[in-house]
Amino acid sequence: MQGDFLEHRQALSRLGVDAPEIRLPHQLDEIDGLIIPGGESTTIVQLIDMYDFRDALRQRSQEGMAIWGTCAGMIVVANRLTDKRPEPLRLMDIEVSRNAFGRQVDSFEADIEFEDIDGAPFHCVFIRAPVVNSVGESVKVLAALDDGRPVAVRQGRMLATAFHPELTGDSRIHEMFVRMARAPK
Ligand code: GLN
Repeated sequence: MQGDFLEHRQALSRLGVDAPEIRLPHQLDEIDGLIIPGGESTTIVQLIDMYDFRDALRQRSQEGMAIWGTCAGMIVVANRLTDKRPEPLRLMDIEVSRNAFGRQVDSFEADIEFEDIDGAPFHCVFIRAPVVNSVGESVKVLAALDDGRPVAVRQGRMLATAFHPELTGDSRIHEMFVRMARAPK
């Protein structure tokens, strides 16, 4: 709908994965996994509602389509926000705060240990990023800041990251998401 979908498509194409742009709800029937990218979450949600995506997304998610929200996308899939807007899709049992790092450090980078991903810590780029305040019982925290606040979480076939893995050329999280989307339902 909006945001840096192009960079995600490039990351997936480096893995040999065909990733069409999804512009209309019926296209969701053709895919095993959907990435909701970083961008501006109120705009993304406005467009989701304008194009009647809300119910279709919920239904495809219940049917087992994998969904990965990055940054603004993490805000979009949350159950609850501490902010008034947007009205999130309530797909994942997490509470999220937008623009959690204030103005002074509204963008920063950090190397963070990642559960379920082999090798070196992941280099994470945060751009006016959200943070996860709390998670439900069925949500696994995959990565957290030094102060303990989660920045990557998984719940079944749902993944959410507060940072931008599509900007660093490290495709390990994209690989993980492709495995999630391809796992037998
Ligand atoms: N601050 C944006 C929002 O609240 C998210 C920023 C991003 O996706 N890089 O929508």
